[in-house]
Amino acid sequence: MIRISQLKLPITHTKAQLEKKIAKVLKNPGNSFTYEIKKQSLDCRHKNDKIFVYTVDVTIRDEQKLAKKVNNNNIMLTKEKPYEFPSPGETPLLHSPVIVGSGPAGLFCGWYLAKAGYCPIILERGEEAEKRQKTVENFWKNGVLDPESNVQFGEGGAGTFSDGKLNTLVKDPYGRNHEVLKRFVAAGAPEEIIYQQKPHLGTDVLVGIVEKMRHEIEEMGGKFCFRSKVTDLIFENNALKEIEINNDKRIPAQVCVLAPGHSARDTFELFYRKNILDLPKNFWLKQHRETKHKQNNKPDTIHRDPLHNFKLISLFALPNFFASIHAL
Ligand SMILES: Cc1cc2nc3c(=O)[nH]c(=O)nc-3n(C[C@H](O)[C@H](O)[C@H](O)COP(=O)(O)OP(=O)(O)OC[C@H]3O[C@@H](n4cnc5c(N)ncnc54)[C@H](O)[C@@H]3O)c2cc1C
Repeated sequence: MIRISQLKLPITHTKAQLEKKIAKVLKNPGNSFTYEIKKQSLDCRHKNDKIFVYTVDVTIRDEQKLAKKVNNNNIMLTKEKPYEFPSPGETPLLHSPVIVGSGPAGLFCGWYLAKAGYCPIILERGEEAEKRQKTVENFWKNGVLDPESNVQFGEGGAGTFSDGKLNTLVKDPYGRNHEVLKRFVAAGAPEEIIYQQKPHLGTDVLVGIVEKMRHEIEEMGGKFCFRSKVTDLIFENNALKEIEINNDKRIPAQVCVLAPGHSARDTFELFYRKNILDLPKNFWLKQHRETKHKQNNKPDTIHRDPLHNFKLISLFALPNFFASIHAL
């Protein structure tokens, strides 16, 4: 593939104009080509002349020869690294893997485990997205709080009632970010999220996407249990044996993925009691206070952002337990 960056077009441009521009940069190679937009950003530095800046990957015959011939600093040969699911283990599992939480972490984990044939069971303390939406509306309107199904808890997780910003600063050597966006598109998100510099989805779209992914997981053999709070983890000989739900029912379990987010204090107290997570040590917090950018054509102006951005990332991995917490 040939990657072309810095393709600049007026914001009103058409698809044909973009294709013409690609052909022009490649010095009208004659051969037909296909292309994929990798990035689209908006340059607003010039008030009356706003432009889109694109990076595109072009597939064409004789790429190496062509790239050499064109000899342009904004052109390079590139290879896409698609996400690869880790190879499965060799010991057969006695029971389906259990995932605690159906936020983004639990949902994606469930989707990929289901696709790989593991038939996961997803336990979620809150309600399914559609019911949860009504419960949240009732809270906003009448102040009735459901402690188990609310803005933080329920299918879709903590960010479901937000403008759903999808950009991340996490480096992506394994192609996971792209894979996540592709999965969102397959579940009904607009295609532009794959290449927009700051893509986002609102609650109205997110709810549909989450439901579609749930149905796909179920069709692939996974199972969802809503209103099912994990209240205990039972171990025998240092290995997980059972999971208790709602202080009542127990299900057998051998492998458990912890994806409870960062707001379920009771659940974290449980993990603490069970000596599962060593919380305080393993996180990284960064505050972005200043962004250096060119403002009003003055180079190197320091822009002080009144809304300081914080970033907290933590990752735990213990035998048969995996949990990740991400907060933006
Ligand atoms: C208001 C708000 C707006 C946000 N906006 C954005 C944004 O625009 N962009 C962005 O990238 N991030 C945003 N975030 C952060 C983002 O939501 C989180 O980073 C993300 O949801 C974390 O995903 P998760 O799956 O790890 O956890 P969560 O989304 O928190 O999901 C955890 C799930 O586990 C369930 N659970 C917890 N304990 C148990 C238990 N004991 N048994 C069963 N189930 C349990 C919970 O009910 C919940 O559904 C926002 C967060 C909030 C609160």
